[in-house]
Amino acid sequence: MLHALQDALRAAPDDEAALERGLSEGLAAYDAYLALVVTAHPMSCRVGCTACCHDNPRGVTGVEIERLRRSVDTFPDRARVKSAFARLAAQRADAEAWRRRQEPCPLLDGDGRCRAYAARPLACRAFVAVTPAEWCDPSSPRYADRVNPHLDPPRVILQILQALSARRGLSVATDLHTGMAG
Ligand code: SF4
Ligand code: SF4
Repeated sequence: MLHALQDALRAAPDDEAALERGLSEGLAAYDAYLALVVTAHPMSCRVGCTACCHDNPRGVTGVEIERLRRSVDTFPDRARVKSAFARLAAQRADAEAWRRRQEPCPLLDGDGRCRAYAARPLACRAFVAVTPAEWCDPSSPRYADRVNPHLDPPRVILQILQALSARRGLSVATDLHTGMAG
């Protein structure tokens, strides 16, 4: 994971191929790490379980937003998706209040899948639950007891993503809605 991202940082700032390779390999390596963790410590996450996609992931770097936008640009309804992000970004609230509003991410499809799954940021990948999936729903009586361990990647990964973002004049960290609306 680190090597691919370090190579992207060593490449020229306008080397789009190196950046794409770094992000794609780096994120794939993080997924492989998560898969290993899940083997040892089973999580409750499954396809179609979407309470966490009714939140606004924080700490998303500019290069991740840029990559996600490129994915959205391939959608036939990209204008609708972008406008939905802009609407959400204009209605900011503190994290807990926002979770309770249960606004679906504009990238969530009708089957509870992320339409930009391969390009989703680390903040989305890292969000898992060890308590029952239904506890992630803010309307659950057990919501306060949920355990989301936040399997964040090593700090150095975030620092590289921030450095890659900064040298492209992008935000080093933002929330998903603001980034996608920008
Ligand atoms: S974090 Fe919670 S809502 Fe999200 S996929 Fe896992 S169990 Fe489901
Ligand atoms: S980008 Fe995808 S994974 Fe992340 S909140 Fe939106 S739908 Fe969920």
